[in-house]
Amino acid sequence: MLKINNLTAHYGAAQALFGVDLEISVGQTVALVGANGAGKSTLLKCLMGLVKPTAGQITLDGKDVTYHSPAHMARLGLALSPEGREVFSHLSVLDNLKLGAIPLKLSKIEERNRTAEVFKRFPKLSERREQQAGTLSGGEQQMLAMGRALMAKPTLLLLDEPSLGLAPLITDEIFSIIHQLSRAGTTILLVEQNAARALSASDKAYLLANGRIVEHGKSHDLLNDPALRAAFLGAASDENPAASRLGAAGLTNIRLEKPAMSQLNFMGAFENETALCTHQLEGLQWTVRHAYEGSSGYRAKFDKAGITPDSIQTLQDLSKLPFTTADDLRDGYPFPLRAVPFEQIVRIHASSGTTGKRKVLSYTQKDLDDWTHFFARCYQMAGVTPLDRVQIAVGYGIWTAGMGFQLGCEKIGALAIPIGPGNIDMQIQFLLDFQATVFCSTASMALLMAEEIHKRGIADKIAVNKIIYGSERSSRSMRRKISELFGGAELFDITGLTELYGPGTGIECKEHDCIHYWGDYYLLEILDPDTLQPVPDGEWGEMVVTTLRKEGVPLIRYRTRDITRIIPGRCSCGSIFPRHSRIKGRSDDTIKFRGVNIYPSSIDSILSTIPGIGSEYQIHLRRDQSGRDHMRLVVERGEGVDVKRGPELIHEVTHQIKKQLLVSTELELVDYSSLPRSEKKSRRVFDDRIQDEIV
Ligand code: ZN
Repeated sequence: MLKINNLTAHYGAAQALFGVDLEISVGQTVALVGANGAGKSTLLKCLMGLVKPTAGQITLDGKDVTYHSPAHMARLGLALSPEGREVFSHLSVLDNLKLGAIPLKLSKIEERNRTAEVFKRFPKLSERREQQAGTLSGGEQQMLAMGRALMAKPTLLLLDEPSLGLAPLITDEIFSIIHQLSRAGTTILLVEQNAARALSASDKAYLLANGRIVEHGKSHDLLNDPALRAAFLGAASDENPAASRLGAAGLTNIRLEKPAMSQLNFMGAFENETALCTHQLEGLQWTVRHAYEGSSGYRAKFDKAGITPDSIQTLQDLSKLPFTTADDLRDGYPFPLRAVPFEQIVRIHASSGTTGKRKVLSYTQKDLDDWTHFFARCYQMAGVTPLDRVQIAVGYGIWTAGMGFQLGCEKIGALAIPIGPGNIDMQIQFLLDFQATVFCSTASMALLMAEEIHKRGIADKIAVNKIIYGSERSSRSMRRKISELFGGAELFDITGLTELYGPGTGIECKEHDCIHYWGDYYLLEILDPDTLQPVPDGEWGEMVVTTLRKEGVPLIRYRTRDITRIIPGRCSCGSIFPRHSRIKGRSDDTIKFRGVNIYPSSIDSILSTIPGIGSEYQIHLRRDQSGRDHMRLVVERGEGVDVKRGPELIHEVTHQIKKQLLVSTELELVDYSSLPRSEKKSRRVFDDRIQDEIV
């Protein structure tokens, strides 16, 4: 939209800008950050036609506008909310607003419509519409200056130092308005000294020092790059101001608001995959010894399998160990597989289940610390920073969910809003009042909220830009819908299970095509659920986990029943942590179809009662565009059965299935022996409903 090329400007003999390049696309919020005297205002004045550049070019929508007059630039759609507000203190709020539209020569009706729109966006101004502007507070004057610029319905809104001289709370309010404008699609150039605020409110940023762009990039990257943070935002502070490039450039007034931010890193310090493997082997050896010595249940299993702690010499020795299952946990109720004395247990959590058959897990303080640490890592991977506000709408209590989200959030230094699930009215109220930037819930809760936000038409009044969801599957179309209705929020699928600490054992990265799992806390095997042999990388199988540091209840080759696959190789996001696909389903037998649980074996037995039908069959499940599920049954004719009997057989099978299972199926009859057979159990269920979520 706007392109500035090699722009140079002088004030008298002094050069103020040195070959500045800058670009803004439609709908973007771009921050221009720098200290007093860095050249920010000169650049803005060049844009508005108030200062004539000495060299370079400014193009707007492809047209050269370098030497256009201020009035012409205003007609082209540029509007400035100036530094120091510059409101007319003796005029009323309403009259100040009207001034913003003067160059456009609007009709009375249009003028009234636009003031109404501005008042709607700034209810505080509406309350004070007849008040003299000079009697407004600083924050209100800033709103008035912004409102006056918005009267022109600008295609590019230029905000010069909107937070200058305002108290932190008022600054919050102004930035929340900027955020809303940006979400409503306004293209904004935000000029600020407050680097942290500007970076967290923008898509892209340019750092200006002494008339030169010294750094630029995605704001998120600039904010999260440790080197940049140290160079531009952190180290300029106390011990060694001169060490900072901005410090040297005179930008010493740039500070981050939470001082420890630059030290926060939960990613671990593994140089490469080999270092991670070394750590894993140590963890495995420790875990086997710990389980053997601490838990009579594990010791009995190991003895039976002829395993001693010394049996583990390499990571490959993992395959010698016996499996652990949900039954082992249920059988040991109430403290199954406990491997430490009660004195060391500080908390329990439980998974859902009928009374007495819940899976109860015991935690030591170290277990909780580890969990907290890698949950903070999840937030970090999703780009959550101490400046975020996290609305946690998952279950609190005996379940692990709420606790995990809470601990990790506090660890990373973000503001937690612990609300729990349900209560949509309160959720919406909180989103509006507290301006949460991150929303955590299950996928279906997120969808529910998304639809409610859409229904109430408040997408541009909330600030959520990230949704972290877990504990259930979600399709791509569902993800897309949630994101859209939330006003373009980015979605992150988080994994976890109670047996393995709780949620947070892995999360989708910003590339959005895999789940990174924390290989320094547990090992992941993908096995064929029937043969329990490993499947090659990239193939689907059951997720089997072995913890590496868990004290209270270590897990050894625990069968999770979740179906996923390893994605080999390192992710393009650069993280060293290994990855798997989103969870595709469960290896348990049941098929859930339109709310009915169906065991393939029941279809098996119905088919076996119909003469003329062969024994091989396949069940294909798919979901249509409207979200409705369909079941197609592929059935073989019996050996030697006449093709002409087809229609009659089709009718009989669909009728029997409808009668006995209460579901409708589409039936396809094929020749005898045309379906594949295998030595092992044949694959009979093809659930394509989840294809679109598989990555
Ligand atoms: Zn990645």
